[in-house]
Amino acid sequence: MGKITGFMEFERIEEGYRPVAERVKNYKEFVIGLDDAHSKIQAARCMDCGTPFCNSGCPVNNIIPDFNDLVYQGDWKNAFAVLDSTNNFPEFTGRICPAPCEAACVLNVNDDPVGIKSIEHAIIDRAWAEGWVTPRVAAHKTGRKVAVVGSGPAGLAAAQQLARAGHDVTLFEKNDRIGGLLRYGIPDFKMEKKHIDRRIDQMQKEGVTFRTGVMIGQLPADSKVINWATETITPQQLLKDFDAVVLTGGAEQSRDLPVPGRDLDGIHFAMEFLPQQNRVNAGDKVKAQISAAGKHVIVIGGGDTGSDCVGTSNRHGAASVTQFELLAQPPVEENRPLTWPYWPIKLRTSSSHEEGCEREFAISTKAFAGDKGKVTGLTTVRVEWRDGKMAEVPGSEQTLKADLVLLAMGFVSPVASILEGFGVDRDARGNAKAGTEAAGGYATNVPGVFAAGDMRRGQSLVVWAIREGRQAARAVDEFLMGFSELPR
Ligand SMILES: Cc1cc2nc3c(=O)[nH]c(=O)nc-3n(C[C@H](O)[C@H](O)[C@H](O)COP(=O)(O)OP(=O)(O)OC[C@H]3O[C@@H](n4cnc5c(N)ncnc54)[C@H](O)[C@@H]3O)c2cc1C
Ligand code: SF4
Repeated sequence: MGKITGFMEFERIEEGYRPVAERVKNYKEFVIGLDDAHSKIQAARCMDCGTPFCNSGCPVNNIIPDFNDLVYQGDWKNAFAVLDSTNNFPEFTGRICPAPCEAACVLNVNDDPVGIKSIEHAIIDRAWAEGWVTPRVAAHKTGRKVAVVGSGPAGLAAAQQLARAGHDVTLFEKNDRIGGLLRYGIPDFKMEKKHIDRRIDQMQKEGVTFRTGVMIGQLPADSKVINWATETITPQQLLKDFDAVVLTGGAEQSRDLPVPGRDLDGIHFAMEFLPQQNRVNAGDKVKAQISAAGKHVIVIGGGDTGSDCVGTSNRHGAASVTQFELLAQPPVEENRPLTWPYWPIKLRTSSSHEEGCEREFAISTKAFAGDKGKVTGLTTVRVEWRDGKMAEVPGSEQTLKADLVLLAMGFVSPVASILEGFGVDRDARGNAKAGTEAAGGYATNVPGVFAAGDMRRGQSLVVWAIREGRQAARAVDEFLMGFSELPR
C-alpha cells in the first residue's frame, strides 16, 4: 500500500477533456490522460482495503490494489506486468470501459472512488511508449489448428491467448478490417483505431493469421448487418479444416421499431450510421454517406450507442440533436448503501451529451411522419412506469420535427443463421448456448465448437468480451491438450 493516509489527504482526480468547441471539429480522442505526478496521487488514494471489491467488480479481475501501489512507488514496468497478466488490451478498456471496478471501490461507500480506469490508461500508454509491449511467441508449437470467427475484443483475446499457448490460430472476419465493434461502431473520438492496429501487428508476430473479408456461413438475404465479405466459407468446411472453432461473432441483430412510417427515407439503425463515419475517418470513400449536417436529428435509445450517435451527429454539424429514452429519468445520485458494490442505476451524462443534446425520458414513438418518402417528424407519447409496467399517459401525444432518425435501441441477439449453420443450440434469448463453468465452459452442443463474447452472453461490454475470449481460449486449450496453463 502506497500512502496509508492518501485517501484522507487527496481528492479524486478526473482525466481532462479538450474543450467542446475544439473537439467537435474532429474525430480525434479528446481525453487527456494523467501525468506521472497526478497518477501517483490518484494511486495514493487506494486504501488497499484488504477485501478488494474492485478486483471482483472488474470483469477481467484486474489486480487493482497491486498496480495502484506500484504506480505510487513509481515502478511503472511492474505495474504494467501486473495489468498485462489479466487484461490483453488495457488500452481499449482504459479508454472505453464504464469502470464497474470504481462502483465497487470501498472508498465509493461514502466518498469518491479511486480513479482506477485513469491509472490503467496511464500504465498502458506508458508501456507502449516505453516499448514494453512486445510479442510473446510460444516456445513450443502444438500443431493444433484453431479457427476464431469474428475479430471483436472477444475474438482478439481468444486468438491471442491460443497463439501464446502454441496453437496455429486463424482469425476470420467478414468485414474488411479487424476489430469488430471497436473498429466499426465505437466512434474514433472515443477510441482511435491505431490502438487496434498496434495489437494486430503484435498478434501477427505471435503467429495469428488474420483473414478479413471472409464470411463464415450465411446472413439472411434481407439482413442489414454490415458485411463486406468477398469470400464465403461454410461451417462444414471450417469444421473439417480446423481442430476447434471459437464463435465470437457478436450480437449483431439490431432491435427495430416497427411503427407506421418505418420505411421512410432518413430512418436508420445506429449501426448503419456509425460504421460509415469510422470508414470515412479511416480514409475510405463512402457513397451517399448518411449525414446529420444541418438536420434535426432524433436518436431513439438512451444508451451508449445512442450517445455515440449524438457525438457523431454533432460532429457532422446537426441543427439539433434530441435523444429519447423509454424509461423514466433515473436519480442523479444512487443510494449507495443499497447499491454498493454493484453497478448503480443513475443518471449518466456522457461526454457526447455535454457537447449538446436534448434528452427526453419516459417517451415512446408511435409513428413516423413523412413527405415524398422522406421522414419529416415523429409522433410521441409520454409513458409512466408502475411496478415495472409501462402505460401511456392519455392526451400526451406530441409531434416533433425530424429529418434524420437513428435507431439505437440495442441488439436483440446474434444472427440466427450463423449459429444454425453450425448446428449450435441457442438459449431463450437467441444467443449461442454455452455455460461458463470451470470445466467444459464455453463449449456448445457441437463438439469442438465454442462460443464467447456478445455471441454467447448477448449485448454487453468490451471488458466482458475480453474476459470471455480469455476464458474460452483456456477451455479450447484444455479440449485440445487435456490440460491448460492459460489463466482462467
Ligand atoms: C456503438 C457502440 C458503442 C459501444 N461502446 C462501448 C463502450 O464505450 N464501452 C464498452 O465496454 N462497450 C461498448 N460497446 C459494446 C462492445 O462494443 C461490445 O460488447 C463488444 O465489442 C463485443 O465484442 P465481441 O467480440 O463479442 O463482438 P463484436 O465486437 O461485435 O465483434 C464481432 C465480429 O464478428 C464478425 N462476424 C460476425 N459473424 C461473422 C461470420 N459469420 N463470419 C465472419 N465474421 C463474423 C463481425 O463482423 C464483427 O466484426 C458498444 C457497442 C456499440 C454498438
Ligand atoms: S477493465 Fe474496466 S472494470 Fe477492469 S479495472 Fe479497467 S476500467 Fe475497471
